[in-house]
Amino acid sequence: MGQKVQGTEDLFGGYMRAWQRMQDVARELFGAYGFDMIETPAIEQVDTFVHGIGESTDVVRKEMFRVVSGALFGDLLEKGSEAHLKPRQRMAMRPEGTAGVVRAAVENNFVPQGAAPAKLWYAEAMFRGERPQKGRLRQFHQVGVEWLGASDPAADAECIIMLMEYFERLGFKRDDLRLVINSMGDAACRPAYREKVRAFILDHADEMCEDCLERAQINPLRAFDCKNDHCREVMKGAPLAPDNLCEECAAHYAAVKRYLDAAGVAYVEDPTLVRGLDYYTRTVFEVEAVGSGVGAIGGGGRYDGLVELEGGKPTPGLGFAVGFERIALALAAAGVEMGGEEPSCVYVACTGGEAERAAAFEARLALRGAGVRAEADYQGRSLKSQFKQADKLRARLCVVIGGDEVAAGAATLRDMGTHEQVQVPAAELVDAVLARLE
Ligand code: AMP
Repeated sequence: MGQKVQGTEDLFGGYMRAWQRMQDVARELFGAYGFDMIETPAIEQVDTFVHGIGESTDVVRKEMFRVVSGALFGDLLEKGSEAHLKPRQRMAMRPEGTAGVVRAAVENNFVPQGAAPAKLWYAEAMFRGERPQKGRLRQFHQVGVEWLGASDPAADAECIIMLMEYFERLGFKRDDLRLVINSMGDAACRPAYREKVRAFILDHADEMCEDCLERAQINPLRAFDCKNDHCREVMKGAPLAPDNLCEECAAHYAAVKRYLDAAGVAYVEDPTLVRGLDYYTRTVFEVEAVGSGVGAIGGGGRYDGLVELEGGKPTPGLGFAVGFERIALALAAAGVEMGGEEPSCVYVACTGGEAERAAAFEARLALRGAGVRAEADYQGRSLKSQFKQADKLRARLCVVIGGDEVAAGAATLRDMGTHEQVQVPAAELVDAVLARLE
């Protein structure tokens, strides 16, 4: 018997309905904010992620699933290095959505100079070669948005407001959510800040773990995120990003907070919040479902340099992504059933004659044509066990077609709750069903 790959899941039943609901709510809410859906390929050239996410990030260094075609695989093993591969032959499964969407925006020129911003949302599987554990999968699903061409701090605030509204519509209570924000500065002020943090880590080298010493060389800000408690304690004394912003970044951050205050959205400022990917500038944010024990359920921020890194003209941008599996876990912990019950149906039962079966066949097609979920028996069951099956499928109504009905050119409608029955002409069946389902 085959087995699924470790850290992957099959989506079906209520779990699948929950994932669909996340998409439905996104379509409606993000649509109201002017976002259109996009789907980019699940595989991209490795360079797309290296340029965008950053060579020094854990995601790029350790967690990407790399892809080569079968034809090149043997060759790769034989040569023992990928040095001979052309850039287009080096591929990876997407570990996150932003780099691919930005690559698509540049390639298709979504934001020509002076044009209105491009607002895009996606619902896609992501792939990361992490060690699987609760809430941490190798294939997981994200809903996310990318807003390209907007530098106004109102966009940051609206993005966050939309995210919090999204969580509420999915079933979270606002009080159970903790929104954390920070500003990480930009190309003008971050390099100097990064140097300060590097110097701080090197000053405290004897107190920090090996990983943090390595981070000091390549990506010092990541030391704020170290899994080692002691390192995090030491980092509490490190210089903080909000104290090291240039004037423009400070003004931008202050405006974002003013807009959030005006909208009555509660937030906590965490000057140590740094997000794992290199591309963030200025505003960053994360949302946690308090007490759910699954970590962050979503996060995002501004990435004003990313479009350029992907080869486009300087274009500001921002976005967020939320993780389906963690949201489902957090909602389940809060007792909220996100997927809802299996949809009910109308069951079309009939006795065994050819004319009855033909009439039932026609009735099913007509009902489905009107959008009704019509079920029936396809295994030669008796009428009695057809009713049983109708109950099992939670049918609200049964259409019954026997010899009498065929002779009268009619169908009997049976309410499965009250067991009331009425006969209606076959031509009026669909309307009669629709009227009762309302
Ligand atoms: P990130 O891009 O790492 O900030 O991820 C955004 C969201 O995706 C997180 O807040 C999680 O909800 C979810 N997520 C990230 N990595 C995983 C994973 N390995 N398994 C499940 N969900 C994940």
